[in-house]
Amino acid sequence: MIPFNIPTFLGKEKSYLLDAIDKLKLCGDGSYTKKCQELMEKKFHCKKVLLTTSCSHALDMSAILIDVKEGDEVIMPSYTFVSTANAFVLRGAKVVFVDIRPDTMNIDENLIEEAITEKTKAIVVVHYAGVGCEMDTIIDIGKKYNLKVIEDAAQGVNAKYNGKYLGTIGDIGCYSFHETKNYTCGEGGALLLNDEQMIERAEIIREKGTNRAKFFRGQVDKYSWVDIGSSFLPSELNAAYLLAQLEDIEKVNERRLSIWNMYRKKLNLLDQNIHIEFPFIPSSCKQNGHMFYIKVKDLTERQNLIDFLKNRDIMTVFHYIPLHSSKAGKKNGRFFGKEIYTTKESEKLLRLPMFYSLCEEDIDYVSSEIINYYKQNDLSIS
Ligand SMILES: *Cc1c(COP(=O)(O)O)cnc(C)c1O
Repeated sequence: MIPFNIPTFLGKEKSYLLDAIDKLKLCGDGSYTKKCQELMEKKFHCKKVLLTTSCSHALDMSAILIDVKEGDEVIMPSYTFVSTANAFVLRGAKVVFVDIRPDTMNIDENLIEEAITEKTKAIVVVHYAGVGCEMDTIIDIGKKYNLKVIEDAAQGVNAKYNGKYLGTIGDIGCYSFHETKNYTCGEGGALLLNDEQMIERAEIIREKGTNRAKFFRGQVDKYSWVDIGSSFLPSELNAAYLLAQLEDIEKVNERRLSIWNMYRKKLNLLDQNIHIEFPFIPSSCKQNGHMFYIKVKDLTERQNLIDFLKNRDIMTVFHYIPLHSSKAGKKNGRFFGKEIYTTKESEKLLRLPMFYSLCEEDIDYVSSEIINYYKQNDLSIS
C-alpha cells in the first residue's frame, strides 16, 4: 500500500528526544525550543520566531495580536483549512471570502481591494501548496488601507516569493509542523514576527497572558497576569524532534522537490491532452515540494480516479470543502463578489502521495496507474 503521507523521520530525532528526556526539562522554552527559534530566525531572516503548539494556535495568536474584535472583517480565500478562519471568528470577526486564482489556487490579489470596507481589519493570505501569493500587490494594498497582512504559511516553510521566505513578508507569518507538513514534530507550529513592536506582546500572549518571559530574563522581579493569552508554547520534546529536521532543512527540501519533479516528468504523457492539469509555479516563486496535485475534469472523474487508485493500493486525497459553503462558514462569513473558481477548481484537485521517504519505484507505480486509468477509460490518450 502506498499511503498518502508518512511523517518525515531522519534518524537524529531519537537522540535529541532522549537527550531532552535526560535533561528532565520538559516544559516549553528550554534549549531545544531556543535552538529551533534561532535557527529559523537566521535561516528565514526573521526578527522573531516563537514556536507554538500548532499553526492553528499561531493564527489564534495573530488574531489576538492585531486586536481583532466583534464587528471586524477579515479578508481571506474560501479555499483553505478551517483554522485560517476560526482564529478570527473566535475573536468575533466576520470572514469575507474572496475568490482564488485557478492557476495557483491562491487568493486572487486583484479582487482584494474591492472587498475592503471600513470594517476590514486584516488580509489573511494562504500560500497553497507552498507556492507564494502575489505578495507585492497584497502588501501594497495593506499599506494603502492600513490593514495588517497575515500569512498562513502552514504549507510554505522554506519556500520563497521574490527572494523572501514565505511567512516573513507580511506583518505576521504562521507555520505548521503537523505530521502532514514538510517539517514536523507531530503537532506544532511557529509564529513569525517582522514587526519589532509585536514581539513583547506575543511572548506574553503565548505564556498565558503573563510576563513570565521577562521574569526569566530578569527584566521584572515577579511575573503576573498582564494581558489575555493562553498556553501556546510546545513541550521541549516536540522541539527536540523538530530541531533534528530543521537542521537538515535543505536535505528534506531537495528530496521533496526531486519527488515533485519526478511526478511532473513521469506524468508528462498526459500533458498534451485536455483532461489533466498540473500545478503552476509563477516565476516569482520558489516552491518547496509540499504537495503534488493534478486537476482532473470534474468531481465525477476525480472520484472515479480515487477509487481506481485505491483498488491498486494507492491512497490519494482531496481537501478543503470551500469554507463559504460549509455550515460554520455561512454563519460566520460571506463571499465577496462572484464565486467563479473556488468550488469548480477545488472539485478538480487531487493530491498524490507525497512524503520524504517516498521512493522512485512508488512514484513510477502511481504515475503509471494514473496513465492506465486514462488509457482504460479511453478518456484522453488515443
Ligand atoms: C495544516 C494547515 C493549517 C493547520 O496547521 P496545524 O499545525 O495542524 O494547526 C492551517 N492552515 C493551512 C493552510 C494548513 O495547511
